[in-house]
Amino acid sequence: MTSIYNLTREDLEKYFLSINSKKFHADQLFDWLYVKRVKSFDDVTNIKKEVLEEIKKNYILNNIKIVNVEKDQDVHKYLFELNDGEHIEAVLMFHDYGTSVCISSQVGCNMGCKFCESGRRKKVRNLEVSEMVLQILLIEEELGSRISHVVVMGIGEPFDNYDNLIKFFRIINDPKGISIGARHITVSTCGIVPKILEFSDLDMQINLAISLHAPNDELRNKIMPINKAYPLKELMDALKIYLKKTNRRLTFEYILLKDVNDSEDCALELVKLVKGLNCYINLIPYNETNNIDFKRTNTIQIMRFYDILKKNSIGVTIRKEFGGKISAACGQLRSKKEEL
Ligand code: SAH
Repeated sequence: MTSIYNLTREDLEKYFLSINSKKFHADQLFDWLYVKRVKSFDDVTNIKKEVLEEIKKNYILNNIKIVNVEKDQDVHKYLFELNDGEHIEAVLMFHDYGTSVCISSQVGCNMGCKFCESGRRKKVRNLEVSEMVLQILLIEEELGSRISHVVVMGIGEPFDNYDNLIKFFRIINDPKGISIGARHITVSTCGIVPKILEFSDLDMQINLAISLHAPNDELRNKIMPINKAYPLKELMDALKIYLKKTNRRLTFEYILLKDVNDSEDCALELVKLVKGLNCYINLIPYNETNNIDFKRTNTIQIMRFYDILKKNSIGVTIRKEFGGKISAACGQLRSKKEEL
């Protein structure tokens, strides 16, 4: 049976009309689910028993549960079990500006990035809308407080699960529900060009981050197979359209991999690639994993790379690291659980 958390408020309106009930129940039920956070349909007091019975015939509430939490001072890592026994993970980070949750969008991933732990196991399936929504609801419940920011950067390629992703955004952004502002939501993609173009026309101001990781096709082809389908020229053209249509600032993520993409030449090439775009570059110290051979660039070289970008007037930050101690980075918890 499907979860009620798969439905946007608009879907709920259609549902109530389809069972010959009242459209306004959608707002009421939405409030019970996302504001009052009921644990059972029986706790709903302003919708008639018969209607609730009908809902219960078609929908369940939760279809995921937390099975493990690892906590460090500024980061919590959650492992979830889905109804079919699969596992996904989400990471909660405490910042000075609030709390952000990094959620998963698929079970496994088909993008095959060479440095990435999550991609070592092929995609099993897309996550349902509810399975994304519940990562947030269950973490807020465990935490006892609200989350201010959401990033879709966990396991999976969100733009390979585009329709569910957008419904998920509609639900968490809905002012009558969890109400997380679009500007507090970020989605990261490895660069699926047709979906970037579609995203350019979205009526919500969600932030976009692009996993770039290399400044030229030769190198990018080696570490990110998606580049063979959508080479840099196509990607950059799509991003220019995105920037023009949305007037927003774009983030490029760039993992620094020792002796692979961290040379001064690479930095200069990167400058050329992004010069003039309304963007900034987030340099990511690589999280080494036991199963993959890439090594982390040392701090001195990271700073050299950073300086080159800075001197050339490119906006640049270095990502703060979370969760090293609790083996919490990028797909590691799930790998541990499933002994991949
Ligand atoms: N598929 C999407 C979102 C998930 S990956 C994407 O590619 O953007 C989220 C980010 O983590 C990506 O930038 C990815 O390249 C990066 N990443 C993957 N493995 C990593 C590792 N071991 N250390 C640091 N960053 C990593």
